[in-house]
Amino acid sequence: MQFRTRAIHVGQHADPATGAVVPPLYLASTFVQHQAGAWREFDYSRSGNPTRRALETTLASLEGGVAALAYSSGMAAIHGAMMLLAPGSHVVAGQDLYGGTYRLLHQVLAQQGISTTLVDTTQPDQVAAAITPQTRLIWIESPGNPLLSISDIAACAGLAHQHGALLAVDSTFATPVLTRPLELGADIVMHSATKYLGGHSDLLGGALIVAARDLYDRLYFLQNATGAVLGPVESFLCARGLKTLELRVREQSRTAQALAEYLAADRRVRRVYYPGLPAHPGHALAARQMQGGFGAMLSFEVAGDLDAARRVVQATRLFQLAVSLGAVESLIEQPATMSHASYAAEHRRRAGIADGLIRLSVGLEAFEDLRDDLDRALSLAGL
Ligand SMILES: *Cc1c(COP(=O)(O)O)cnc(C)c1O
Repeated sequence: MQFRTRAIHVGQHADPATGAVVPPLYLASTFVQHQAGAWREFDYSRSGNPTRRALETTLASLEGGVAALAYSSGMAAIHGAMMLLAPGSHVVAGQDLYGGTYRLLHQVLAQQGISTTLVDTTQPDQVAAAITPQTRLIWIESPGNPLLSISDIAACAGLAHQHGALLAVDSTFATPVLTRPLELGADIVMHSATKYLGGHSDLLGGALIVAARDLYDRLYFLQNATGAVLGPVESFLCARGLKTLELRVREQSRTAQALAEYLAADRRVRRVYYPGLPAHPGHALAARQMQGGFGAMLSFEVAGDLDAARRVVQATRLFQLAVSLGAVESLIEQPATMSHASYAAEHRRRAGIADGLIRLSVGLEAFEDLRDDLDRALSLAGL
């Protein structure tokens, strides 16, 4: 079956008891057993819940994995993967890492004896140079945030496996519509389901999808032992969102491409970061690694300072001023004062995040309306 058919049918079966086309939402925390000591498929909802299991089955199919685990947030999923690491382990991760992952590595896991080296993961030789005999995990994001950097997943998988480490890919920006890291050799794919998978700004969730059964078993043990599972209501909403994932991502990517081209030709804009533009340093790799689109996130630098960019993000009407991304509603934000404010100013500069940078999450509204909204805001900001 094709991707969009699996998004609707795998794991999502009509209810045999009533014929309901949509599987019911199971809110039960516990399940009646026939005998003491002989467990049925479900016993207690932390260990397994039918609504969560249905979502996990769909997710595993969409990413081409053997199994999936749904967590209470993207951060819980990342922590779930990092609990695989013993004290003394070393992690190699991207220098434009999601802020929450940066904080987890530096302020939580560092205290548990896990060290991290950040490198530019778009350069495989920098990844190779950072690997030590203690390296157990390489963690990358592609496209990265907020400059939409593209890292070579297959090359990073090769390096990880050569050194006995795992490769995990935070694929929140790409979605399985555009990139399937497990097919490129990654061991773990991670998603903030809060973003494209849910797609409607109405749930918080996370997921890990894995290529091997023994890795799933270890992650399942850790998740059940620590408890950060996705609730049934969120599982239901996410499964509903997945049914339109391919249509949303393809259409939003098309609009993002058109907006990127529009902004790149505008004199009020200094620079546009979008992997679909030939001038983007990751364009050729993205054209190979991403299928049928370059995603719906884009950033641009206005020809002005921090205050000019602030005026722009405060002047749009359709693009709402908020962090987060991936939903049908378009959002706008200023990385220097919002999503990346927790980076030290010096680290921000080194990562190339200018004060005048603006990040867009392109939603499902019409291109013309979004273009006119940006045009108006750039003028109102005095650019
Ligand atoms: C939002 C996000 C996360 C964290 O997910 P939450 O659901 O907010 O916990 C991790 N990685 C990326 C790339 C994200 O955008």
